[in-house]
Amino acid sequence: MRKLDTKTIVVASHNAGKIREIGELIEPFGFVARSAADLNFVEPDETGTTFEENAAIKALASATAAGMPALSDDSGLVVDALDGAPGIYTANWAEREDGSRDFAMAMEKVEKALGEKGALAAAERTARFVSVLCLAWPDGHTEFFRGEVEGHVVWPPRGTQGFGYDPVFQPEGYSTTFGEMSSLEKHGWKPGDAKALSHRARAFKRFVETCLGA
Ligand code: IMP
Repeated sequence: MRKLDTKTIVVASHNAGKIREIGELIEPFGFVARSAADLNFVEPDETGTTFEENAAIKALASATAAGMPALSDDSGLVVDALDGAPGIYTANWAEREDGSRDFAMAMEKVEKALGEKGALAAAERTARFVSVLCLAWPDGHTEFFRGEVEGHVVWPPRGTQGFGYDPVFQPEGYSTTFGEMSSLEKHGWKPGDAKALSHRARAFKRFVETCLGA
């Protein structure tokens, strides 16, 4: 495992919600983080077939372009009754013909697909959010950190916080959706805490323990 010995990194993302969350997680460690969006880096095509492959594509593209380490996140919602869909295609389900993203539409698509399966009870609507973080260096070295959080898909959507599919995801053991949580509650973690809640915070905790030795 390679340690990170610089305090400047690129957050290899063009997704405002992810950039904000990774920024919040990384801030207490004194990092200066620039995002691929701020740096006007081209968004690479996600041609992989796993979260890991897509995370590597994004992190390596930014690390090479910036000449410094880059941290990416490839994530998605994996719904059991839909055989794992939307999975690595979670962002694609929100895509409109003009290229813009509409998450209200994407959440409706998930609900429609669950309805077609007759999955109405919470127990039939189990799902998990997955986040794979990839830290890449300009020389091509990569490290991966995976985080998952179990829960179920609710309908109708609840809450206006967070981003993406947060309003329809209720983590196990909670009565609120991610959309109803502040980002602090959604992360469920700050440096030194034993446990984290969200998939991204769980992956980030592994990154911290492995690459920062914190
Ligand atoms: P990608 O990793 O950029 O391919 O996109 C993953 C997609 O999954 C995002 O566009 C979001 O819609 C969704 N997603 C990932 N993490 C979260 C989260 O924490 N909350 C809500 N939606 C998420």
